[in-house]
Amino acid sequence: MNELEQDVRALKGVGEALAVKLARLRISQVADLLFHLPLRYQDRTRITPITTLRSGDEAVVEGDVAAADIVKGRRRSLLVRLKDGSGILSLRFFHFSPAQHQQFRPGVRVRCFGEARAGATGLELYHPEYRVLSDSDAPVEDHLTPIYPTTEGLNQARLRGLIGQALDCLDASPEALPDWIPETLRQRFDLPALYDALTYLHRPPPDADLASLADTRHPTQRRLALEELLAHQLSLRQVRLKIRSDAAPALPSGRNLQATFLTRLPFSLTGAQRRVLDEIAGDLACRSPMLRLVQGDVGSGKTVVAAMAALSALAGGFQVALMAPTEILAEQHYRSFQEWLDPMGIDVAWLAGKLKGKARLDTKTAIGDGRAQVVVGTHALFQDDVHFHRLGLAIIDEQHRFGVHQRLALREKGEAGGFTPHQLVMTATPIPRTLAMSAYADLDISVIDELPPGRTPVKTVAIPDERRPEVVDRIRQACTEGRQAYWVCTLIEESEALQCQAAEATRDSLGDALPELAIGLVHGRMKATEKAEVMEAFKVGELDLLVATTVIEVGVDVPNASLMIIENPERLGLSQLHQLRGRVGRGDTESFCVLLYHPPLSAHSRERLGVMRDTSDGFRIAEKDLELRGPGEVLGTRQTGLAQMKIADLERDRDLLDRVTLLAKSLLELAPEASTPLIHRWLGEEAGRYGQV
Ligand code: ADP
Ligand code: MG
Repeated sequence: MNELEQDVRALKGVGEALAVKLARLRISQVADLLFHLPLRYQDRTRITPITTLRSGDEAVVEGDVAAADIVKGRRRSLLVRLKDGSGILSLRFFHFSPAQHQQFRPGVRVRCFGEARAGATGLELYHPEYRVLSDSDAPVEDHLTPIYPTTEGLNQARLRGLIGQALDCLDASPEALPDWIPETLRQRFDLPALYDALTYLHRPPPDADLASLADTRHPTQRRLALEELLAHQLSLRQVRLKIRSDAAPALPSGRNLQATFLTRLPFSLTGAQRRVLDEIAGDLACRSPMLRLVQGDVGSGKTVVAAMAALSALAGGFQVALMAPTEILAEQHYRSFQEWLDPMGIDVAWLAGKLKGKARLDTKTAIGDGRAQVVVGTHALFQDDVHFHRLGLAIIDEQHRFGVHQRLALREKGEAGGFTPHQLVMTATPIPRTLAMSAYADLDISVIDELPPGRTPVKTVAIPDERRPEVVDRIRQACTEGRQAYWVCTLIEESEALQCQAAEATRDSLGDALPELAIGLVHGRMKATEKAEVMEAFKVGELDLLVATTVIEVGVDVPNASLMIIENPERLGLSQLHQLRGRVGRGDTESFCVLLYHPPLSAHSRERLGVMRDTSDGFRIAEKDLELRGPGEVLGTRQTGLAQMKIADLERDRDLLDRVTLLAKSLLELAPEASTPLIHRWLGEEAGRYGQV
């Protein structure tokens, strides 16, 4: 173990209590201190003449005490007048001891640092850091002073001291911190060396470009961000390699089953669906597990693609699991699959958290002995107590809620059958290419970039909520003409209970306004069976209008619904709005989406609603969403494996992502052995967890 890998307790002055505080900053080893980067800097390298000082400047000032008096303003304070030949300035202390007062004898030379503010006596420094000088030649700092993110009970000076110790360790043995990006690659990618970057950032020279440091655009900062992104990408690749090195069943095409299935469908597949299916078939025929993400805009027909893939596994005598993120969506898939596969003599089972008692046991038994050939459900499917007989394919709908860890855990579900199942992940969140390469470096990506024919784009209008009566009229008209409508409540209320109450109130008021219509309600607090009943009633046309919270966001498919009202759309992200809107425009009548906003709109909201009005292109919307909200929100980053970066920021550093991918490739060619230590450096424990599986 080298010095930098030592526990922080090895440093001078670090005991248990301090170690606990450091742990809050995710610092446990000496090396972690090196990667704890400053938030900003102060310039204490020069002494600023008092006359050139402006309000708001942070500066070092040195001068002689002219007077030190206790003054009684609104608050009692110690006022020290300091003159440096160029001008005069006050230091003001609200908390001070008699000893401090004594210290400031007239004529004493003081050097202090603080922020100048306009005060009662002109420019003043409030509670400056100061030092009484015995020798007026005492040197100033020779580098900029870093200000670190810190935690309660750990002040800057103390933290700076510890980081100083870590830097001394580094200086004593630079080889203890290997630069895993080899020199040739650093040159090719124009990157400073790791040692140089770190020492620069902790101790920038007086002439450092503060503006670019403040913007985190400095080459040293970018080098570290790049390295961190690289580590994340490499770790995703490792996960991929790990899974890909498992054995999977080579599945037959299932051509006969597929042909039967297709002849029963009331439509033929789009070119994009066929292309993606070919890609999937290629994967399934291999003896290593498929890891494929299918991206397709809402309504592009991912479910049929999933069913076709399932038929391959079934033809090979394997089971298929289909997991959806919500019960509503799982239920919907269950119905579709049952409708499609049951007539073909295929047994489709249902498993969700709410399935209890004997029914649950029976289903689990059927999964365990292989009678259940296709199992549709929620996360419940992948719990420990669910054992598959011969799982060959796992289909996961809506990727952004399914992370790397779950993907690894899936391997175990195939154990009984002796194989790691193939994985097919489907998402409607169009992920911009550069981001996809980083966030999903462990997956191959297929895109269904074509909507089924005959879809008319949804006409979208934004209307202020004072015109609500007009909108209600519009619903009446559409529904009396035999069409159906959604009313989506996006809610202000913090608690789910209040949200549901608000949705109930909306249902009631719409009921009063539209007594001739059959109106249903779904929200998150209803029982799964209740929700399913309402959804079914809407699907078969017993209900004209469905009032819903955003629980209908994903997957609900009712082609006859051609009008959607979204209340307070300004509260939602663009991608979410797009998903919601995708619930209409699925049939052959012209569909409308009304964004019923509450004025006044901020400029930002106006821009967002404008995007919704002007485009129905999921990719453009995703790009815009990313711009406006950042990738964490868009991808639900906590689960993507790109969570919790120390230095990099996916949004800010987006322009690095292309280079990260290139660099990852080059590194794996030139120095493959660097990959694991790099991952370890940046992901630590987490990467360790991948290693165990
Ligand atoms: P999503 O990709 O959003 O999950 P779905 O799979 O729910 O989309 O499909 C949306 C609707 O389009 C469904 O009613 C489905 O039956 C229908 N559909 C799928 N593929 C086609 C196609 N090739 N031609 C016509 N309709 C299709
Ligand atoms: Mg879907």
